[in-house]
Parts: sequence; structure tokens; C-alpha cells
Amino acid sequence: MKGMKIKRIMFTEEELSGIVSGLADKINSDLKDAESLVVLCVLKGAAVFTTDLVRRLSIPDVRIEFIRASSYGREDVSSGNVTVGAVTGDIEGKDVLVVEDIIDTGRTLSELKERLKAMNPKSLRFCGLFDKPSRRTADFKADYIGAVIPDEFIVGYGLDYAEYYRHLPYVAVIEIND
Ligand code: 5GP
Ligand code: MG
Repeated sequence: MKGMKIKRIMFTEEELSGIVSGLADKINSDLKDAESLVVLCVLKGAAVFTTDLVRRLSIPDVRIEFIRASSYGREDVSSGNVTVGAVTGDIEGKDVLVVEDIIDTGRTLSELKERLKAMNPKSLRFCGLFDKPSRRTADFKADYIGAVIPDEFIVGYGLDYAEYYRHLPYVAVIEIND
């Protein structure tokens, strides 16, 4: 795409696979007595990560549901506007694991947490593949984090730049020249 350049690879496909396996191990051990789990994928960014994560879960009955959440673009980070859609299935009385691509300011997940709590799940856990704690403005802490990263803009493995590059099997730092 015009104006975009890959600066460096932050995580290779193999490294991502190791991170996802490590997360699945922790989730499987924490939920070893659970019979069922609703995995709630936050669209669109967590779609790729979610499909890899669920295939490593050993809980007997896993359901996958989706919710659309978006905060305005990077250009507009200070606005703090978060829009959240409807969950594709019922979560009342269920153990729920929310799967997100990256936690930045924390606004998306803290807003989502309030919305989901109102739907009375039995339990609510949050898993973020990446975390940029240096940019946190909302008081939010995830239960599972794949990797803590510096404040650099990344694409690939579900993460986009203007809706492109989600398909890349690796995660790269990009340079945007407008
Ligand atoms: P926040 O935690 O600020 O509410 O927002 C998190 C959302 O911002 C993520 O779900 C993602 O859509 C976007 N985001 C934050 N940092 C990055 C990044 O480095 N790359 C990409 N592609 N999206 C990011
Ligand atoms: Mg996102």
C-alpha cells in the first residue's frame, strides 16, 4: 500500500505459535474443571488469533461467539470513542473468555467489560495477544497477555493498517508516510 513500509518483523510465525500455545496452556490449566467455555472474539483484529487459540483449548464444550468493537483510528486516539456491537450469542450464566488482539489505552476492553457484566455471565476473563502498557489511560488489566510490546504500530496476524495486512502470518512494525 502507498505510504506504508515494513520496518522490521517483531514476531515470526513460529514465535506467534509459541505465544499462542503458552496462553492456551495457562487457560487450560485455569479452566481444567470447566465443562464449557464461551470464547468471545473481538472483531476484527482478534479473528486470526482466536482461530489458532481455540484449536489448542482442551475444555470439552467450547462455543465461539463474536462482538464488533472499534475505537476510532490511531489518528484520533485522544477521542476515546469506543463503539461496541451486539454479541452473536447468549452469555448469561456462562464462563466467558474475551479474546482481543492488542490492549493499548485499555478503553475498548474497559467499555466492553461493563457491557458484558450487564449480561450476567458466570465468569468473565480477558485475554490479549499483545499489550502496550505504556499507553494505558483506562484502568484495565487482562487475565492473560501473550506479549508486552513497546509503543510501536504493528500489523499482521489479524492487526490491520487501514483494514489491510491482517492476513500476514507474522507481526511487523510499520512506518507510515502520508
Ligand atoms: P484501546 O486499548 O486503545 O481501546 O484499543 C485497542 C485497539 O486499538 C486494538 O483492538 C486495535 O484495534 C487498535 N490498536 C492499538 N495498537 C495497535 C497497533 O499497534 N496496531 C494495530 N493494527 N492496531 C492497534
Ligand atoms: Mg481491535
